[in-house]
Amino acid sequence: MTGVYFNSINSDFRKLKKFIEKMEIPSHCIFCEGVDLTIKEPKHHPSYEITTACNLNCIFCYSNVALKNKTAPKPGYYGDLSPKAITISQYGEPLLVGCEKVAYIIKKLKERFGDVSGDVRIDLQTNGVFLDMDKLDGLVDIVMISLDGFGKNYSKLTGVDAFDKVINALRDVAKADCIGVVRSIHMPGINDEDLVKIAKMCDEIGINEFFLQPLSVYEENAEKLLKAGLNISKTENLAEFIKVVAKIQEKVCVNVKIPGCILSNLKDLMRKYDFEDLMLLKRNSLATSPPKIRREWRFVIE
Ligand code: SF4
Repeated sequence: MTGVYFNSINSDFRKLKKFIEKMEIPSHCIFCEGVDLTIKEPKHHPSYEITTACNLNCIFCYSNVALKNKTAPKPGYYGDLSPKAITISQYGEPLLVGCEKVAYIIKKLKERFGDVSGDVRIDLQTNGVFLDMDKLDGLVDIVMISLDGFGKNYSKLTGVDAFDKVINALRDVAKADCIGVVRSIHMPGINDEDLVKIAKMCDEIGINEFFLQPLSVYEENAEKLLKAGLNISKTENLAEFIKVVAKIQEKVCVNVKIPGCILSNLKDLMRKYDFEDLMLLKRNSLATSPPKIRREWRFVIE
């Protein structure tokens, strides 16, 4: 009996190891220092921050925490002056200022960096509620829409009843000339079932990537998350996260991805250590405050 038990554990580990080995980094992580293991203190690739405000009130939000702790960025461009990719934006909801204004900012960024960087990639990070692809098609290369809950659960997790709007936005993204990505935070005990539904919906709509991220629990959000059912020990367990990702991938065609920096480090560790030992690794999911952006602030577009 014990032999059968261990054989099945070994075969699960082998499957998981193969899954990780075959996994490729998300489109958004290409060009990010995070995937270059030769860089000691990698920085996220450049971003243009538009606003720290948001129309949603997600229970895990780091922007809100940064605002309270005064570590949130002021508007403007952060990063080196020969970017290959620019994220719009890491904080807040950029489309709060309107899609026309965001389109204007993107055009100005492309003009400014066109000579040095050529065709700089523009990655729009949004919750999708105000997305109007007619105004942005042809200007954005990757559109990443955050979606962490399905149906009614979406409203519980964000505080706003806008699930249908987000689904419509995803349908528009799938038809547009860009890579469409759904970005979700895995909150064990809260949205496990939702993630499977979201992945299936990505298939149905024709979304290119489903980008899953592990949760960071900020002190300010801990009570809300625990009340919603968060399983904190699973949140700290890296193997648990990878297993969830692998299980979802088994059920869908959309490419399920994890952060490139996590994947690159994991692959590197897999070359050095036993996979079984690595799967015992715990990540520190408790965070006190989102750190200030470490890239230099350069300019703002009026
Ligand atoms: S997830 Fe990691 S590798 Fe990807 S863009 Fe963010 S910091 Fe870079």
